[in-house]
Amino acid sequence: MAKMQRNKFICPFTAGKLPRWKCPNCENPSLIYLEVESLESTNSISFRKELYKRHSSEWYPDMIRWYGTFIGVLKCKICLGQVAISGYKKIDWDYEKYSPIETLTPTYFNPPIHIFDINGEVPNSVRTEIVNAFKLYWLDQDACANKIRRVVEAIMDDKVVIEKHRLDQRIKEFEKTNSEKIANLEKIVKYLHANRVIGNDGSHHGKPLTKEIVLDGFELLMSVINDLYGKDNLEQIAERYYSQKA
Ligand SMILES: [Zn+2]
Repeated sequence: MAKMQRNKFICPFTAGKLPRWKCPNCENPSLIYLEVESLESTNSISFRKELYKRHSSEWYPDMIRWYGTFIGVLKCKICLGQVAISGYKKIDWDYEKYSPIETLTPTYFNPPIHIFDINGEVPNSVRTEIVNAFKLYWLDQDACANKIRRVVEAIMDDKVVIEKHRLDQRIKEFEKTNSEKIANLEKIVKYLHANRVIGNDGSHHGKPLTKEIVLDGFELLMSVINDLYGKDNLEQIAERYYSQKA
């Protein structure tokens, strides 16, 4: 199973060196970034220059600090599909290279880029909830964690686990009814519970969840999805032959 490349999803990114995100249309890592516009905020260079000049006759390059928003398009080199991207842009001074450094923190992708591959066997009801979680990852990690919990609910629906008031009861029911049928069940159940807890944490008031925590959730989810819907799960293949042994 391919590992999730977390550094592709941890902000900020250097503007001239964006990660090779996968195209949501053809799933190749072939998106290239084309900037459309930068919108300056009141912290623009000219504004800050003026401010410093008012108080000092000297101007140093490290006074450059620019915040604003950006709008761009990611274009796929292979299928020519396009993805809208926007977020925050910042220019700082790079002391090592003695030049300005421009970084981007995206908050929006449309259509959303995928944080892990969703294989063709995943039912649409589950897939839709996963893509909803991908969509919110950049903007609101608490809301994203909540969507990951919704994916767990959708998996329980798909596995026809009876409707119960609480998700932990549904996961227990799923474990009970599948004890002889699913390989890796103990691990799957543990990961489902972990994502239920991450989702709950996102719903409670308190410290907002970090991107790292949400990526933990996605990594657990990716494993569950591959175990339950993956075509090439070696454990399941082995289990099939093992159960036929003389
Ligand atoms: Zn493409």
